[in-house]
Amino acid sequence: MSGASGDLRADVVVVGAGLAGLVAAAEAADAGRSVLLLDQEGEQNLGGQAFWSLGGLFLVDSPEQRRMGVKDNLELARQDWFGSAQFDRPEDRWPRAWAEAYLQFAAGEKRSWLRQMGHRVFPVVGWAERGDGTAGGHGNSVPRFHITWGTGPGVVEPFERRVRDHVAGGRIRFGFRHRVDGLVVEGGVAVGVHGSLLEPDPADRGRPTSRAVVGDFEARGSAVVVTSGGIGGDLELVRRSWPARLGTPPRRMVAGVPAHVDGRMLQITQAAGATVVNPDRMWHYVEGLRNWDPIWDDHGIRILPGPSSLWLDAEGNRLPAPYFPGFDTLGTLRHLRATGHDYSWFVLTQRIIEKEFALSGSEQNPDLTGKDIRLLLSRVKKGAAGPVEAFKQHGEDFVVAETLEELVAGMNRVGDDDVPPLDPARVRAVVEARDREMDNTFGKDAQVTAIHGARTYRGDKLIRVATPHKLLDRAAGPLIAVRLNILSRKTLGGLETDLDGRCLRADGTPFPGLWAAGEVAGFGGGGMMGYNALEGTFLGGCIFSGRVAGRAAAAAVAS
Ligand SMILES: Cc1cc2nc3c(=O)[nH]c(=O)nc-3n(C[C@H](O)[C@H](O)[C@H](O)COP(=O)(O)OP(=O)(O)OC[C@H]3O[C@@H](n4cnc5c(N)ncnc54)[C@H](O)[C@@H]3O)c2cc1C
Repeated sequence: MSGASGDLRADVVVVGAGLAGLVAAAEAADAGRSVLLLDQEGEQNLGGQAFWSLGGLFLVDSPEQRRMGVKDNLELARQDWFGSAQFDRPEDRWPRAWAEAYLQFAAGEKRSWLRQMGHRVFPVVGWAERGDGTAGGHGNSVPRFHITWGTGPGVVEPFERRVRDHVAGGRIRFGFRHRVDGLVVEGGVAVGVHGSLLEPDPADRGRPTSRAVVGDFEARGSAVVVTSGGIGGDLELVRRSWPARLGTPPRRMVAGVPAHVDGRMLQITQAAGATVVNPDRMWHYVEGLRNWDPIWDDHGIRILPGPSSLWLDAEGNRLPAPYFPGFDTLGTLRHLRATGHDYSWFVLTQRIIEKEFALSGSEQNPDLTGKDIRLLLSRVKKGAAGPVEAFKQHGEDFVVAETLEELVAGMNRVGDDDVPPLDPARVRAVVEARDREMDNTFGKDAQVTAIHGARTYRGDKLIRVATPHKLLDRAAGPLIAVRLNILSRKTLGGLETDLDGRCLRADGTPFPGLWAAGEVAGFGGGGMMGYNALEGTFLGGCIFSGRVAGRAAAAAVAS
């Protein structure tokens, strides 16, 4: 029955072989420590969520920004970060400190450190999370979203390479299908973990795997680093953690992360005596599509929208400013929850979908993921990108029509039975009111003003924001409506850690022998993003906190 527990001993035991775990393991091994890297999934899942990610990274004052004419600096980034985080609790002490440390990293060493490992970014910087319309409030004042050349796999690759080199050299050992069920704590010190050996499962990466137990194990070390990810794959847990300030939890959601993002380890570490803070802070999207070709259960894909689509709630009311596509994720979520319905609508044209729809995820961007320049160039040609076109044709959330009346009829077919049917005349009135504002490059419609404003940024004009036009301009058609579901994704709170990544006990003292990094630690401190994220901050948060924890655990073992 037992999983050769005598062999499972190392200086550092890392729980979770996602990005944070890979970084922590590589850093600890570089410092000369032996490392055991455990994961409940098989080797085919190495890299965890990061593999599936778009690989967007938050950088401040990068050469890419400067080349695109963006003036950015640490002070502006700090204003945006703290305006978004809105820290307001005593337990925000460490998250604040992590936020400041991370900002210094993003404005300093981050790009060059990654670059020297072979990491590269796409030259056009994206403008994610444009904000709530106030200088001191939520959002990015300037574009900062740097997409990795190679997307998520391109982020994982340098760290996987370092880890595999150490495996070849005998300093790191993998323990796949080792599911940790508890910490081993002796005399108040974390000295290891115990758990179940899961039966081998050859399922493709990302697919749910068997939970059948074939044995047990205990692994011991002088340091335990927990890097087990967030809770977004357990939709019931997401609902239970849902904060009242975001309204009622949605009955229907799609899952933006694989099933292994199950949150179990967060509860296990807490039960052992570590502190969890800000569990009610989370980052879910409002532009989720049900994947017509799913990899995991309830698989949802997020649209990364440009600013031009008209956004209607389930009953056909236009969303108020500043809830435009790509501006204020949680503000929009809060607004939509108050409508009492689980979905909303984008209304757009073929011209808008061609220029403004990007889908988040490595598998949805074969050109960037495969570093295929010819395929990438086809984005500027007529027609939507292949994966977007495939969703348009096969996705259950899409309606395409030549006239607005046909479009609304299609929306009523797709919409829920318990939602009052959309009235074509009312939808026409909303669309025509918006279209009348398109005759000038100025006007009083805040979204139209934002569209014109976005196009003064070269990157947006080049590849992201369609030439302003009327939705009812036949030459821009056909018309398209997209039903948008709520998509679970990131956990913003988590294990409270100090600036060395040490887990803390309820009295604020370090839990000897125990570190945490990545999403399980709220990307540092137990929630360095506070209430709102600026995007591209999650992967970078895993890299930064994994590096800190790996180095600190290695140093503690040495002493
Ligand atoms: C589609 C998609 C797109 C994204 N795009 C971006 C982006 O562009 N930019 C950005 O910054 N972020 C993005 N993210 C978010 C980012 O990828 C994640 O926040 C990050 O990768 C989390 O890494 P992690 O190492 O903390 O956790 P994970 O990747 O979740 O890894 C945790 C590992 O721990 C293992 N584990 C869990 N519990 C146990 C246990 N009890 N025993 C043993 N093993 C366990 C899991 O199996 C898993 O392998 C995206 C995420 C997704 C899914």
